[in-house]
Amino acid sequence: MRVGVLAIQGDYDKHIVACAVIGERAIEVRTATDLDQVDRLIIPGGESTTVGLLLQRFGLGDAIIERAQAGMPIWGTCMGMIIMAARVENHQQYSLGLLDITVRRNAFGAQVHSFEDEVAVTFLARPVTGVFIRAPIVVVHGPSVQPIALYGQQIVGVQCGKLVGTAFHPELTSDTQFHKWFLEL
Ligand code: GLN
Repeated sequence: MRVGVLAIQGDYDKHIVACAVIGERAIEVRTATDLDQVDRLIIPGGESTTVGLLLQRFGLGDAIIERAQAGMPIWGTCMGMIIMAARVENHQQYSLGLLDITVRRNAFGAQVHSFEDEVAVTFLARPVTGVFIRAPIVVVHGPSVQPIALYGQQIVGVQCGKLVGTAFHPELTSDTQFHKWFLEL
């Protein structure tokens, strides 16, 4: 297995460390050639407007879409989930359209409203600490998409086959359950 982490902007290094903790050496993906070297991809937290522009400019967005259509597992955390969404409710911006979801950016407020709380994930034995930093929520999802994590009434995690999005950041905690699960997907 070769794990790639999209390394254009954001907290990609934290995902690389989390993979290392469970014994997987993840590589940084910045170009379509890098993407050819990996068989699964993590899209980290960061700034979705910036990353969207760069994905478009360097043609990497199309390459990711092609690999997703060919069955490659992809997991996006926070900004990553926004980038994977079909629709962004409150902004005009580029996204990959991989998950049939509408996301609302910054749904819990600004940076100062960042928080941590327990989140139950349907397939994990123990709840994870959900770190929410200017996090999105999923406001609409199509029938192909299953909610896998709720925070109160809000959908904060979704899955469609091998495509996964979480509004929170398991890579910012020492709990590697989510990474383990994704690497086995
Ligand atoms: N608010 C950011 C965005 O909309 C995402 C924040 C994050 O990834 N922690 O792009």
